[in-house]
Amino acid sequence: MRRVLLHICCAPCACYPVRLLKDKGFEITGLFYNPNIHPYQEYLKRMETLKEFAEKEQIRIIYLDRYSLEEWLRTVVFRESKPLRCKLCYQMRLETAASVAKNGNFDYFSSTLFFSKFQNQKILKESAKSAEDKFHVPFLYIDFREGWKEGIRISKELNLYRQHYCGCIYSEMDRFYSNK
Ligand code: SF4
Repeated sequence: MRRVLLHICCAPCACYPVRLLKDKGFEITGLFYNPNIHPYQEYLKRMETLKEFAEKEQIRIIYLDRYSLEEWLRTVVFRESKPLRCKLCYQMRLETAASVAKNGNFDYFSSTLFFSKFQNQKILKESAKSAEDKFHVPFLYIDFREGWKEGIRISKELNLYRQHYCGCIYSEMDRFYSNK
């Protein structure tokens, strides 16, 4: 069975990719590494939601539970505008995923970020390719956006917590602060 390490940004985004990869015959291990989720209480909430989802879907998850907030902020400082900050944020998470996949002898790595219509898919793909080259582990590309409606349906059916902003403090401001 082909083994894939699936970086998971949050449980709702994982619903469709996990079902699809299972249907395609992959053995899935999830990876939770998201220092981009702020503040810490929100991070905990998303991690707990993933634990709930993993139990329901019977998948193993590796939790890299180091909340490297400072490292994330230092990475994007003075480069906070989009799409640059997202590029740096993708690189940080996908390179970690590729590194864990390499160390664990996985056949592939991928990410639930490829499910989101709100992410910059072109930059995301470039970042994954660059992580693939750097760590010499194949990146499995599937455009999970094709299952956008199905993913939302599953997340509602499972009664999962669904957040209202991407993750970082800047995305929270973009979403709720209208006086810029
Ligand atoms: S908007 Fe999302 S992808 Fe972009 S930097 Fe913030 S958390 Fe990362």
